[in-house]
Amino acid sequence: MQKARIKDIVIAVTYNCNSRCQMCNIWQKTDNINALGKDELLNLPENLENINISGGEPFLRADLPELIKAIKARCPKAKVIISTNGFATETVLSQMEKILKIMPEIGVAVSLDGLDGKHDEIRGIPGGFEKATATLKGLQGVGMKNLRIGFTLGDYNTEELEKMYDFANQLGIQMTMAVVHSSENYFSKDNAIKNKEVILEKLDWLMKKELGMVQEFHEKFRVPVLDEPSLVPEDRSNNRYRLMRDEVEEYLKGAQGDDLENVAKELADILYSVYGTILEHGLQDLMPEIFEEVHRSNMSKDYHQYKMVKGPGYFRANIRRFFQP
Ligand code: SF4
Repeated sequence: MQKARIKDIVIAVTYNCNSRCQMCNIWQKTDNINALGKDELLNLPENLENINISGGEPFLRADLPELIKAIKARCPKAKVIISTNGFATETVLSQMEKILKIMPEIGVAVSLDGLDGKHDEIRGIPGGFEKATATLKGLQGVGMKNLRIGFTLGDYNTEELEKMYDFANQLGIQMTMAVVHSSENYFSKDNAIKNKEVILEKLDWLMKKELGMVQEFHEKFRVPVLDEPSLVPEDRSNNRYRLMRDEVEEYLKGAQGDDLENVAKELADILYSVYGTILEHGLQDLMPEIFEEVHRSNMSKDYHQYKMVKGPGYFRANIRRFFQP
């Protein structure tokens, strides 16, 4: 039997945390908070590709630069990103000064779950939004490129997604999004999503927002946009195929060249070309629901011997229903 290779891991370097988030009670843990040491890192698989340094709040470990040095020595090819709440601005900036000398390409993700008071309320820290924003700007100020805002979407901040999207654009920083979840390893709170309809609406909004930008491009450069779902002439479908294929090939070059900035740019280009194809086929209004249907079908698969299989609970995505009158 072929052995599974672990490529990506999350390392909680501490349980210590200076936040009081409503969706996590890791900060209530008081024993053995810094149990992980450099010696444990020597047991990491050497060929890891992606390592997320997490916590608690990783920057509260005074020896974080030493841990990064040990990770670099053990896993030289891994792309490393540190997730932080960004509340200890001075500590983050002084630690990063040392860390960037060890690993200049390292990334930092600062959590922001809403603007101003909303973020402070969710994270339980008065003035938390200002502190996290000061950290982001400070890291931008020292020329950090691999920087992002990490937004966690839950029932409690659905109204904040659009605002944070605009805020990230204003700062010129990319935003990544996760949906809140429960993890037995670190958190004991029940983070179930109760308002699924609203969450799906917000995800639709995000998809349509990007489609809208591509539509603007098509209109400016007179690329077809159809109002109704349709097949297109062969020369147009061949053209769309070439555009998508070229962007996928560019992505591969970026990934093989170990260039995260290029990878991010090419992924945006892939989305751009796929959204453009959706518009040329007039599928823009149906696509959020089709995507959701495909997602439901994918989630019905089973995991067996390191791969996804179509088990007894599997069902095919019913795409036909979207095209019936
Ligand atoms: S979610 Fe992160 S920042 Fe918030 S308490 Fe948990 S570990 Fe700390």
